[in-house]
Amino acid sequence: MKKVLRLLTIGAIGLSAQQAQAITIEFNYDYDSNNFFSAQEKNTLNAAGAFFESRLTDSLTAITSAGTNHFNAVFDRPDTGSNTTINDFSVSSDTLIVYVGGRDISGSTLGVGGPGGFSASSFSQAFLDNIETRGQGASNQDFGPWGGTISFNTNSAWYFDSDISTVADLPGNKNDFYSVALHELAHVLGFGTSNTWNSQYSDNHWAAGTTSFVDGVSQEAAMDPSITTGTRKHFTELDLQGLRDIGWEVTAVPVPAAVYLMGTAMIGLFGFRRKS
Ligand SMILES: [Zn+2]
Repeated sequence: MKKVLRLLTIGAIGLSAQQAQAITIEFNYDYDSNNFFSAQEKNTLNAAGAFFESRLTDSLTAITSAGTNHFNAVFDRPDTGSNTTINDFSVSSDTLIVYVGGRDISGSTLGVGGPGGFSASSFSQAFLDNIETRGQGASNQDFGPWGGTISFNTNSAWYFDSDISTVADLPGNKNDFYSVALHELAHVLGFGTSNTWNSQYSDNHWAAGTTSFVDGVSQEAAMDPSITTGTRKHFTELDLQGLRDIGWEVTAVPVPAAVYLMGTAMIGLFGFRRKS
């Protein structure tokens, strides 16, 4: 009798661990030499990251550079836009590393983002086989980057919301940073930027003005090309479907925060414009 109870307990723990599995998005500020990010900017960015952390349940393998296994991350620096390489790069399992920063981007572009590229060398075919999709399968069918890069325009009029549960205080003449962060993170995740996406779609965004639903409420999709000042765009069901189409495992409903707290080659960058 006691033994059975013990097995049941183990089973329950196993189930919790499975539910707890979620992607961790790690923001890196090493290339924010223009000091775009201070506490409020980071808080709002973390809120956008938390949305994807609560919805994506893929298992990404670790990439570990060691000995003769060399993995080099290649990306555009968010503070300058110039291409850079970090040699012997490593990323933990189920983790994406996103380099973020601000720079002067011309015109009405609010942000640009995309997944990182890489170069690698090794005597191990298994090491090389792992790095492209991190255990997600063929690169033309699924997507598993190490992370990527996002630049936000230092010249834009931004609103950094300290509480994204309400838009009551969003000024009509400001660009909602949370919405733009969601949009650019989706580009890091391969929306409009991965081989898988390009095998199915000819454009990098939904058509301008495309609408879908968030909790049953109609809204312009987060991944159309632009956003109006003074508005917030949550990630809609259609936007999530775009991520599903390129291989991400997206939960039907968010992983409860209390549960997931327990578990503890540059392809292209695409801008998100302010509507003129
Ligand atoms: Zn975009």
